Amino acid sequence: MGGGKVTDWQGKNVTVAGLGVSGIPAAKVLHGLSAKVTVVNDGDDARARAQAAELEALGIAVRLGDGATLPEGTELIVTAPGWKPDKPLFAAAREAGLEIWGDVELAWRLRGPDAAPWLAVTGTNGKTTTVQMLASILKAAGLRTAAVGNIGVSLLDAVLGEEQYDVLAVELSSYQLHWAPSLRAHSAAVLNLAPDHLDWHGSMEAYAADKGRIYEGNRVACVYNVADKATEDLVREADVEEGCRAIGFTLGAPALSQLGVVDGILVDRAFVENRQKNAQELAEVSDVNPPAPHNIANALAAAALARAFGVPPTAVRDGLRAFTPDAHRIAHVADVDGVAYVDDSKATNTHAAEASLAAYESIVWIAGGLAKGAVFEELVAKSAGRLRAAVLIGADRGLIREALARHAPEVPVVDLDRTDTGAMLAAVQEARRLAVAGDTVLLAPACASMDMFANYNQRGDAFAEAVRELGAGA
Ligand code: ADP
Repeated sequence: MGGGKVTDWQGKNVTVAGLGVSGIPAAKVLHGLSAKVTVVNDGDDARARAQAAELEALGIAVRLGDGATLPEGTELIVTAPGWKPDKPLFAAAREAGLEIWGDVELAWRLRGPDAAPWLAVTGTNGKTTTVQMLASILKAAGLRTAAVGNIGVSLLDAVLGEEQYDVLAVELSSYQLHWAPSLRAHSAAVLNLAPDHLDWHGSMEAYAADKGRIYEGNRVACVYNVADKATEDLVREADVEEGCRAIGFTLGAPALSQLGVVDGILVDRAFVENRQKNAQELAEVSDVNPPAPHNIANALAAAALARAFGVPPTAVRDGLRAFTPDAHRIAHVADVDGVAYVDDSKATNTHAAEASLAAYESIVWIAGGLAKGAVFEELVAKSAGRLRAAVLIGADRGLIREALARHAPEVPVVDLDRTDTGAMLAAVQEARRLAVAGDTVLLAPACASMDMFANYNQRGDAFAEAVRELGAGA
């Protein structure tokens, strides 16, 4: 089964698992291809009913309140990526010998014969930033492209829409990769690997294996992080096309077949003539926005993928210069009394917060929220030397307080003992009291936000708002 031609799908019995951002468009597309579509959904609330009514009006069957039973006659399942692999629906499907595709697999299968190749990015942190940098570089090279996938534009839209692309910059989550068995990228990068979403995958090994799928069948380059051996191991284990190369990126001087940094310059020793002796200058560190170490790593990964696609060095530089990060990712909010206030609300796990803290010398750290089972020992131990003080908010702040007591006992800690939305203003006021000129007050919570806020955007906005109030009163 596959391809976008109506004949391939005529009358096929497809079950779409999950009403939602991926399920609804998938159901509509498959229905448009004359498949016989049934959508199954666990929930049965007002919203689901409204969505169901809309699909039923088109002639698509919807079964609400039962996402567990395999509909009679199903020949293929197309699932929302977030559905856990151990769901009974999938056990029944496997028993029946059925294939299970996610939204990415569906897009991959439906793309036309002349479809644009995919440059794919995954990793625990930095995916969105890297994919946007990559798209910016590709655009600077004059290529028709878009940042798609687990970000903004859906892959289905990109693959089936009117717009013609030369190449796609694709962000893929570990869930999406799990459900994308036949995906074959032109080139792909795994930025880093730290424990995350383990309840979904079952174990770190299973999580890594799903991330590693991104390298399967790569044609030109498998890009890995020299500082994160687990990513290199995944390259080694991947089954790639003949001639596909392993390309490392590093914040240090690049070895052969790597991109790295020499004297403040991003250099390429992978995609150059006579690379035994030569290195190609791509850009300056100051062209990367913000020039924090982890973000330079993101820029190198994006550059490696672009270079694998044949993009010239000047386009790497121009694309990086043209790039501005999304909100709440190390966003500089303001300077008040010589103290910089930086919003990295998107640092929702310890790995991200560690990268963020590594970017500044002397920090008043605002942290806390929902820990999602995280352990803070390593983060605090590694960052202790940079902490002027810490201000803790949110439901699981006690875990961070304990880690600070163990690994950074000399660092002053203010535990606000609050989980209300207004606590952010108090946190910023405390941080201001603790900071001295030259310091950075950094919101890098290392936790999810949902105990206090609707999402990380709202949390970051609350921080910025509080900083503005400080500035106004200063
Ligand atoms: P993702 O799409 O993987 O969630 P983002 O680009 O949105 O990644 O960045 C999320 C957060 O992760 C950022 O706010 C920053 O704190 C952190 N981060 C970004 N890049 C990296 C990296 N290469 N290594 C570690 N942390 C990173």
